[in-house]
Amino acid sequence: MARKSRFALAGPLPLAGEYMPLKLNPLAGARPGCSALYIHIPFCEHRCAYCDFTAIGGIARAKEYMAALRREIALWGEAVGHCELRTIFIGGGTPSFVDPREIHELLAACRSAFSFSPDIEITMEANPSSTTFERARIWRESGVNRLSMGIQSFDDRVLKRLGRVHTADRAREAYEAVRNVGIPSVNGDFIGGVWGSTREMWRTSLSEAVRMGFDHLSCYELIIEESTPLYGAVQRGEIALRPENDLAAELEETRALLTAAGYVQYEVSNFARPGHECRHNRVYWQGDAYLACGVGSHGYLESDVAGVIEATPPGSPGCRFWHVEGIGAYIDAIRKGSIPIRGWEWISVEEKWMELVMLQLRCQEGVLDTLLDPDAVEPFIEQGMLEHRGDRVVSTARGMLVLNGIIEALVGHPPATVANG
Ligand code: SF4
Repeated sequence: MARKSRFALAGPLPLAGEYMPLKLNPLAGARPGCSALYIHIPFCEHRCAYCDFTAIGGIARAKEYMAALRREIALWGEAVGHCELRTIFIGGGTPSFVDPREIHELLAACRSAFSFSPDIEITMEANPSSTTFERARIWRESGVNRLSMGIQSFDDRVLKRLGRVHTADRAREAYEAVRNVGIPSVNGDFIGGVWGSTREMWRTSLSEAVRMGFDHLSCYELIIEESTPLYGAVQRGEIALRPENDLAAELEETRALLTAAGYVQYEVSNFARPGHECRHNRVYWQGDAYLACGVGSHGYLESDVAGVIEATPPGSPGCRFWHVEGIGAYIDAIRKGSIPIRGWEWISVEEKWMELVMLQLRCQEGVLDTLLDPDAVEPFIEQGMLEHRGDRVVSTARGMLVLNGIIEALVGHPPATVANG
């Protein structure tokens, strides 16, 4: 969504590549409510042509980077009073690509810096090519209880187009290894709408995932981001994208196939067997606070905690911050006891409201009706795209297919409580 709030209170933003060495101000005596932690590991076997994440091909300086990451975790723990974590998400990049003993040490650092709730969810992302029984055993013993696997497809032709380094058979083996070590919850990431693929290929892949018994499936459509080599190939006409109506039909089929198999669409792109919803992602979708460590990672702190960065301006509900992207700069700053931040932004009430509407309408629970202008909602109710459920407004199956348009219309009409500040 392109709209920028007129109330945004931005912290200083350095030029690209530069960063501010931020010293955290420890909070006096508080045990604040920040219960989620994101940790970024940027190393990958190679850089995929469609990827715009903070990812590096190869593993150079991984040991130094992992040591810096442990130090950053300790710095945050000291500053925010060792609060209790309910979720940790180790993402990337490809966390499974680093030595599994590094994951063990990383989680040990988390245990020293924070306390863990008894039912903590610890997710790690893994690619099939770097998942073996032995590695998975160490991840499991280190505390990982949810694995998110970058399967993308069970069709070798699609995997080849995407430039993935694994084959469908390798993905099957990796899944079996993960199950054999007893990781209790396993997600598969799948990419739909790949050029040159068909709906039949997509259906076959998803049906196999269902048969195999994945607990959770994240089904994203391929997005061509401007900063990627794939974007250039599309611009030069080397790649013909699939027509929009074909992609919409694929989306509908995804929902039909997975809901018939017992998965619940609890977010527009995410399907889970009951009890296997990703708690960490729910933190993002509910607009709650989360800490973030590692290059390129973004965090959000609510105003009572955000004082570790800077005194909270009156009326701001919280602060977003984002890290530098280069691992050299990251390691250097952490060695000096600073957090290498590229910028932060105090958000306004209006921005927070927009974010909540955008995120929560994508979820099964929808958004509180008092957060929406009834006049803006009504036409979508009449068209069967939104519906009232108790005190919430939720998207229907039909509405989910055109959600971006609905959200754009609703955030253009804030209710009086928000519009008047
Ligand atoms: S493996 Fe994932 S994170 Fe790494 S380059 Fe490919 S898409 Fe990006």
